[in-house]
Amino acid sequence: MISDQLYCEALLDFRIKNNGYENVEPGEARRIAQEVIRKLRLEGKKRLVRFPIAGKVKGLYFVMSPDAMIVEKGKVKAIVRVRLRKSLRIYESDFSLLYIMGLVLNEQRLLAENAILLVIISNDPDSLKRSLDSLANLANKEVNFAEAIKTLDENSKAAYRLYDREAALALLEKIIGYWKGERAPIALPSERKCSSCPFRNLCPYKHF
Ligand code: SF4
Repeated sequence: MISDQLYCEALLDFRIKNNGYENVEPGEARRIAQEVIRKLRLEGKKRLVRFPIAGKVKGLYFVMSPDAMIVEKGKVKAIVRVRLRKSLRIYESDFSLLYIMGLVLNEQRLLAENAILLVIISNDPDSLKRSLDSLANLANKEVNFAEAIKTLDENSKAAYRLYDREAALALLEKIIGYWKGERAPIALPSERKCSSCPFRNLCPYKHF
């Protein structure tokens, strides 16, 4: 839901009102991450993991499911987001969800100092799988992220940011008003988003 909200709050609002969050299937990128991590667990490698996270931040209760995380000494060193799409360009908005996840982990005292937010984009499922495999191998050593992202598959691209609590809180401030019922949803229309939006026929804000 937060991912939809950061994409276009009007879309989130339409989806909630149309029961669009019932029986949501994970996307392909997330399924690939699940598969790679399941295989690692079977091999006894436990530093690239995934598990749901939950916690209260500024009066809002979050339940979230990171695509993957790298754990060092019992704390989350990196929160990983994976995407499959044609363009390998990485946008600042790709990191937004990770900042909110960082806040939730931080409240639970599960976030390591100098934690990393890592985005991996690929235009091909096999490439994404190979990239996650590379990351998984690195995650069993001390990870140097600047070096790690150079080792990913050539059809994937990755970028990372240092988690910044102030930036995360500023982002939370932007979304919290909707959930507290203090304001109407804010639409973020664009030709790209609206042309593939399932609610474009209902939406007064759509970009023509
Ligand atoms: S049509 Fe555009 S503005 Fe309206 S909900 Fe969809 S993405 Fe948002």
